[in-house]
Amino acid sequence: MTTIAFIGLGNMGNPMAANLVKAGHTVQGFDLLPENLTVAREHGVTVMANAAAAVKHAEVVITMLPAGKHVLSVYEDIAAGAPAGTLFIDCSTIDVESARKAHAIAARHKLLSIDAPVSGGTGGAAAGTLTFMAGGSREAFAKAEPVLNPMAGRVVHCGDAGAGQAAKICNNMILGISMIGVGEAFVLAEKLGLSHQALYDVASTSSGQCWSLTSYCPVPGPVPNSPANRDYKPGFAAALMLKDLKLSQEAAQASGAITPLGAEATQLYALFNAAGHGGTDFSGIIRFLRGDAW
Ligand code: NAD
Repeated sequence: MTTIAFIGLGNMGNPMAANLVKAGHTVQGFDLLPENLTVAREHGVTVMANAAAAVKHAEVVITMLPAGKHVLSVYEDIAAGAPAGTLFIDCSTIDVESARKAHAIAARHKLLSIDAPVSGGTGGAAAGTLTFMAGGSREAFAKAEPVLNPMAGRVVHCGDAGAGQAAKICNNMILGISMIGVGEAFVLAEKLGLSHQALYDVASTSSGQCWSLTSYCPVPGPVPNSPANRDYKPGFAAALMLKDLKLSQEAAQASGAITPLGAEATQLYALFNAAGHGGTDFSGIIRFLRGDAW
């Protein structure tokens, strides 16, 4: 079994670390928030005084942090203290440029590294069914895969450094755009006197079929466990959707890709967030499209 340092024990990190403990690994954890450390301790994580202490004697280091600046600052703090050959896995969703800088810091210290952001949310983290999108060398991926497995439904090697983050933001750009598209279709159906169920029955087996419709339907009824059935309690909060869409637009600008619908989706989610709905599930944007007073 492996000794794993886990840094960033928030909504995602804590249940992920718990699954590593369940799989028999020794997990040495650290987070800045004492309340998150209390939860980690209850899950069997050995709580350490700081990130550097967590990394000592660890064969693998996993980070699950809010953004690129946090990942780079933690990497700068701990990379020198890790023995050569230690595997660094960053599971945070961050910009591609910071992800590549994190790989460069690891390489400078002769460490193996992969970027491995996830999809599946807090539910997938708790159930151990996350999809991991990994970027990095074949050698690093081969070492990472068995470590990720207890937290994963699927682990995909997407390519070299930064490819995992690239896959994540492309996927979530599709998701943001498609949720708005599905929401607009239901709003139009309402105006035309077509029932939600009738549109669902047709579109779910026609060319309008997509995940936003059939797994995460933004109106209550057709998909009983979608957030629409619990007053849009997340799920996947609109603030996180906006974060990912912004990352997609930064990457589009830096790479010269033309993504007009990605840009429009970013604008709409920015308005939705600015109206105070950042904590609402992202599918709640249908209320905004409908013009509901809320
Ligand atoms: P979170 O805010 O709950 O957790 C982040 C944790 O990092 C916090 O507990 C914070 O205290 C800790 N932290 C920050 N700086 C630190 C440092 N220097 N040292 C140690 N700990 C530090 O966020 P989350 O929801 O767990 O998300 C984590 C990452 O996963 C984000 O990049 C997010 O975009 C991504 N993500 C989240 C979801 C989701 O549904 N929540 C889904 C997919 C991906």
